[in-house]
Amino acid sequence: MATTVNWSTSQNQGSAAHELGHATGLGHSAVGCAVMAPVSSATCGFTPSADDAAAMRAIY
Ligand SMILES: [Zn+2]
Repeated sequence: MATTVNWSTSQNQGSAAHELGHATGLGHSAVGCAVMAPVSSATCGFTPSADDAAAMRAIY
């Protein structure tokens, strides 16, 4: 049975931001709706959390 996954634009942006985070040295966040959370949630949308910002500031 074929399965079609319809990713929303926000999910694509969030996934790209997540991978970009890894590329820039970020690890996974413990914050559930953070861009860098290990599992993305469709209910979170694409909004960098304070945790994401703090992780980025810690590196740069
Ligand atoms: Zn990841």
